[in-house]
Parts: sequence; structure tokens; C-alpha cells
Amino acid sequence: MKFCSLSSGSSGNCEYIEHNDTKILVDAGLSGKKVESLLDSIDVDIKTIDAIFVTHEHLDHIKGVGILARRHNLKVFANQQTFNRMLPKTKEINSENVFFFENDKSFKFKDIYVEPLSTFHDCVKGTGFTFTDDNNKKVSLLTDTGFVDLNIMEKISNSDLYFLETNHDEDMLLQGSYPWSLKQRILSNRGHLSNVSASNLLNQLVTRKKEIVMLAHLSQDNNLPSLAARTVRESLLNKNINEGTDYILEVAQREIASEIYTL
Ligand SMILES: [Zn+2]
Ligand SMILES: [Zn+2]
Repeated sequence: MKFCSLSSGSSGNCEYIEHNDTKILVDAGLSGKKVESLLDSIDVDIKTIDAIFVTHEHLDHIKGVGILARRHNLKVFANQQTFNRMLPKTKEINSENVFFFENDKSFKFKDIYVEPLSTFHDCVKGTGFTFTDDNNKKVSLLTDTGFVDLNIMEKISNSDLYFLETNHDEDMLLQGSYPWSLKQRILSNRGHLSNVSASNLLNQLVTRKKEIVMLAHLSQDNNLPSLAARTVRESLLNKNINEGTDYILEVAQREIASEIYTL
């Protein structure tokens, strides 16, 4: 299975996953043109994409979904609540191309097993995903959640690649210029994961099998890529888990494709 982050952060999210001839996007939170050119930058033709899997209805995840689905006849997978909520923004999508999943019910799409996980976020019904191939290689994507429960932990554990939110540094957020209500929303159980919360999770998840850890959905105002990476690196080092030998660390960037990882 192959994984690439095309763009990550509050300004627009889109990830690419491939296994055999199954090619999918998770979210398309940038303009259709931008998604096409990011795919182009990793030599993938948008016309070969099968489907877009949608995590939730916030604009940084769905901005290009409607236009891309219509222009390239892509399938769109979402839970029904999310689909209903995003429809005013994506506009009409050919109903033959719309597929509803239920959170916490796994299914197979072409060559990939999909497991949608219920997240905790200020949207109607947020979703994280695990994608597993027939060689048992597993990718877990978890962003836009203020809280991680036992169900999520169990389902994402033993992944080969973690695409995990490190949205903010708590001090930067608290000292920054956001209004107090917004700070509270971000810090709440229906907000976003901080660098420290993600580090605590990774302490339980990384098993030294050279997992890929990709830090994702960084806030432009309340975080820095170097700070997110350092927080995770130092936290894991405290448990004698070493970057490079035990796991690989990368921070997903805005509108720049990451390395393409082959699992
Ligand atoms: Zn988001
Ligand atoms: Zn969101």
C-alpha cells in the first residue's frame, strides 16, 4: 500500500492512498485545481482516482469534493449525516456516485479494507479511518478529534503508518490572539489534539517496528512543524523509543506533497 499526504493543515486537507489499482483520496479540502496539481506533483493522474472518502463536513476537508466528483466522475464515501451537512457546500453530486458508510462498521472497497472510526469533534459525525490491504499493512488517519477513546486506540493500534493530528501547542494557543471561546473550543473534547496529547498516544502506539509517524493538521497560528516534531521526538525518547531506528517521523505540510511511503 502507498500513502502520501498532499496537503495538511487548517487551510486544506487531502491524502492519497493506493493499493494495486485501487486509488483513493481522503478528503479534498482544497480547490479542485489545487488537488489536481498536487496529484500531478506525485505523478498521479486524477482520472485514475476511484473515490474520495470524507472525514467530516468542515470546509478544510470538503472544499474540492463536489467539483472533483462531478468533473472526474469520482465516487464519494461519507456517513449519511456528514453527507447531508456538506451538500449545501459541495452542491449536487450524482447520486450514483454517493455511497454511505456507517461509522464503526468496516467494509471493503476494491482492494482495500476500510474501517471508519467515530471521532470527537465539533461537526455532525466525524470520522477517522483505518485502511488495510491484503498483506495486512495498515494505515490509520486520525485528525480533527479532541479526544481519543479506547475504541479508536484499539482499532488504530498495530498500524504501519500513523497519520495523526498534532494541531497545536497548548502554550502557543493559550498565549495567542484567538478569542477565549475559540481557544476553549479547540482545547475541548470536541476540538483538536495537541502536540502533547498526540505524543501520549504515540507512546502507547509505537512498537519499534519502524512505523511511519506523520504529524498532521498543524495550526498555522498555534504550532510550528519543528515544535510538533520535537515534542513527539522527546516524549518517545523518554521511553527509549528512537527516531530513525524505531520509527520514522515526518511533519505533513500545507500544499506540499510528503514523501510517498510504500508499506
Ligand atoms: Zn480540519
Ligand atoms: Zn474539523
